[in-house]
Amino acid sequence: MTTSRSCHVVVVGSGISGLTCAEALLRAGHDVTVVSADALARTTSHLAAAVWFPTAAGPPDAVARWGRTTFDLLAAHAATGVPGVTMRESLVLFRPGVEVPDELPAWAASVGDVRPARADELPPGYPAGWRFAVPLVEMPVHLPWLHAQVVAAGAREVVRRLRGLDDVLDLRPDVVVNAAGMAAGALVGDDSVYPVRGQIVRVRNPGVELSVRDEHHPGGRAYVHPRTDDCILGGTLERGSWSTEPDPAETAAILERCADIVPALAGAEVLESVAGLRPGRSEVRIERDDTLLPVPVVHDYGHGGAGITVGWGCAQDVVALVGSVEG
Ligand SMILES: Cc1cc2nc3c(=O)[nH]c(=O)nc-3n(C[C@H](O)[C@H](O)[C@H](O)COP(=O)(O)OP(=O)(O)OC[C@H]3O[C@@H](n4cnc5c(N)ncnc54)[C@H](O)[C@@H]3O)c2cc1C
Repeated sequence: MTTSRSCHVVVVGSGISGLTCAEALLRAGHDVTVVSADALARTTSHLAAAVWFPTAAGPPDAVARWGRTTFDLLAAHAATGVPGVTMRESLVLFRPGVEVPDELPAWAASVGDVRPARADELPPGYPAGWRFAVPLVEMPVHLPWLHAQVVAAGAREVVRRLRGLDDVLDLRPDVVVNAAGMAAGALVGDDSVYPVRGQIVRVRNPGVELSVRDEHHPGGRAYVHPRTDDCILGGTLERGSWSTEPDPAETAAILERCADIVPALAGAEVLESVAGLRPGRSEVRIERDDTLLPVPVVHDYGHGGAGITVGWGCAQDVVALVGSVEG
């Protein structure tokens, strides 16, 4: 028998995954406690470029479905002035020798209008590109706002570094949501989560308004995402690397290739370089597990480079799984 009774749900994690789950669960009428080890500013979510774009996450069908839900919700957030969320005009570049696909990729179905770039929209040396608009989330603004929403809606908070998921049982949950990012696998004995290191450089925004990316740059991935006062320049995608120390040589290389795709960035003032670990997994794990604890666990982790892109869609599935708990 399934019912939709109200539960006490302990959500582990207060990055984008934990906070979207907490918000959606509160909205569905559940009682929520958020447990996290780190301040918001120390989460991976906080440092993310946080543009809507499905990078390094699977499986494709589910990512497309979660991505579409999240796109629509973030677009609505942008339209209603939710702090930190904007729609950002974007350009994907194809350099000489890189074939422009005949068919648009799966993500384009969520985006709607994707058109060929005009010649006057392309940087020097680039023959082709696609133009479209996607949500961009300024996480240092948005994450604290989302956190405040969750607290205002009645969530309790516990600061605690768990050694295992059973460390929350004293909080007397009916259900536990495991949204602990890079740590989520280790907390439950799942060794299929691996780091995908990403280094980015923050520069003062010299007036750039367009997000631009070249995934085929010979020097490595190149992307520029302008925000209100700064631009995020990327980046690296290094599977298996655990280092969160920025590498100065990589900083210089990122600056160089980003100036190739957005010449206005040449000489931009560097604010900082940072490196974070995307929580990689062959597939995002959204699943109910009744074997781990005396109460059901619902997993929400392994989002790779797409945690902001799929966050709200995943949270919706988490709410459905929590709702499946027998009353
Ligand atoms: C350089 C870079 C750029 C990125 N750009 C994008 C992008 O443009 N678009 C996009 O969609 N995604 C992007 N990502 C990916 C995105 O940042 C992640 O997928 C997302 O942040 C994962 O969110 P999360 O909430 O699952 O994990 P996190 O944000 O890491 O949060 C984990 C939470 O779990 C808590 N926790 C961990 N261990 C414990 C423990 N033992 N006990 C208690 N609590 C614990 C932490 O305190 C934290 O609150 C990027 C990532 C990087 C590194």
